[in-house]
Amino acid sequence: MARRTSRTARTRTSARSAPGTAALTPTPPTAPAGPCPCGRGEPYGACCGRFHTGAAAAPTPELLMRSRYSAFALLDAPYLLRTWAPATRPARLDLDPGTRWTGLEILETTGGSAFHPAGTVTFRARFREGGRDGELLERSRFERYGGAWVYVDGTFPE
Ligand SMILES: [Zn+2]
Repeated sequence: MARRTSRTARTRTSARSAPGTAALTPTPPTAPAGPCPCGRGEPYGACCGRFHTGAAAAPTPELLMRSRYSAFALLDAPYLLRTWAPATRPARLDLDPGTRWTGLEILETTGGSAFHPAGTVTFRARFREGGRDGELLERSRFERYGGAWVYVDGTFPE
């Protein structure tokens, strides 16, 4: 019994520390332990995943922006609608599964602290669609609504 226990423990340890293991069996991006699509370098479950499940609300416009990017990447339309200001929210949202979001870069943020009623996030999002790479440069506006940040609309800076 003791011997079997120690062998099991050793096997588990070596599997975890074996070089290249992660590359051979990558954790899917959508798994809680997999990398978050928003690129912050956190596991999905500890990053945008907790906002997507409703376990927490994004505390800043930047984190809401990141979680909305991740929701686009994961085709989570209900989350996008839930975090959209009622005044500008579309009746429905059809996400194109043919668009693959490949990277997010936050360029600038304004406002958005606990003392601000609004904030903006300027970002560049890269995507791949129909075999071609594209990018979206947008300055998004966010407001507080019912105590949580919501997306209002966006403009496209030069
Ligand atoms: Zn994230």
